[in-house]
Amino acid sequence: MKNKLILGEFELFWLDGGLCQFDGGTIFGAVPKVLWEKKYPCDQENYVFLTASPILVKTPRSLVLIESGLGNKLTDKQKKIFRLREEWRVPEDLKSLGFDRQDVDYVILTHYDWDHSSGVVMQDSERLALTFPNAKHLVQKTEWEDALNPNRRSINTYWDVNIETLKQSKNLELVAGDAEIVSGVSVSLTGGHTGGHQIVIMRSGGEEALHLGDLLPLHVHFNPLWLTAYDNFPLDTIRMKERHEKIGLAANAWFTFYHDPYYAACKFDEKGNIVAGVPPQVTSQQAG
Ligand SMILES: [Zn+2]
Repeated sequence: MKNKLILGEFELFWLDGGLCQFDGGTIFGAVPKVLWEKKYPCDQENYVFLTASPILVKTPRSLVLIESGLGNKLTDKQKKIFRLREEWRVPEDLKSLGFDRQDVDYVILTHYDWDHSSGVVMQDSERLALTFPNAKHLVQKTEWEDALNPNRRSINTYWDVNIETLKQSKNLELVAGDAEIVSGVSVSLTGGHTGGHQIVIMRSGGEEALHLGDLLPLHVHFNPLWLTAYDNFPLDTIRMKERHEKIGLAANAWFTFYHDPYYAACKFDEKGNIVAGVPPQVTSQQAG
C-alpha cells in the first residue's frame, strides 16, 4: 500500500494496482521533450513510470474504490509490452487495511480503458470472476456503449476480457451525466480523454478532493495544454480540465492521481505550482 489522506470524515488510501512504463512521447503528446523532461524523469529509452493506483475511499458508511488497477491476468507478452515493474496487489492491500475484496460497495471507473478496468475481472483459480463481487460498478452509459462497440483505435484499449464478466453480472450500474453515488461522493461526465470519461468529486467536513482521472494523469499535466497523445477529444479535455481545475482551486481542493508515482495528491496555486503534496510514492525500482 502507498499513501493515505484524511478528508473530513473520509479516509483515502492509494493501493498497489501495478506500475509500468510508457513512452514519454505518448504521455506528453505535443509537449516538446525539452520541456517535459525537466519536470518528469525518463530513462535512456525515453520511458517514464506510471502507476495504476486505485483509491479506496472509506466513508462513514461505505467503501468506494476509484479505478481498479492492472489486475492479475496480463499475459507475459503484455507485461513485456507495458514494461510491468510491479504487480497488482489490491486484494492484499485491502487485507492489510482489515478488509476483503467482498467488502467493497462501489467501484467507480472514470473510463473503461484497460489500464483502469483490468482489475474489475480477476483470474480466480481456474476461472475469471468479478474481483469485487458485492460492488456496484459505476460507468457512464456512453462509455459502456463505446466499450461494447469499439472503433479502430479504441479496440486496443477496451478489452473483451474486462467487459464480458461484468456484462453478464448484475453488478453493472450505468450513469448518465452527473450523480451522487454515496453521501459526499459524486461523479460528473466530462468526456475528453474518452467520450464517456467521468470524474469523481469527494466532499466531507468542509474539505474537497477532485479525481480528474485521465484529464489529469500526472501532476505535471496541470497546465491545461499538457495532454497525453491518448486523448480522443483533446479540445474537450482542455475545456473540462480548465473548468474543473478552476473549481478545485477555488475550493482549495486536493487533486488526486491514479497514474502518478511521485504524488498521490496535490494542492496547486493559480500558476500550477504545488503548494501541498501527499508524500511521494517512490518505489524501490525507481529509487534504484
Ligand atoms: Zn489511464
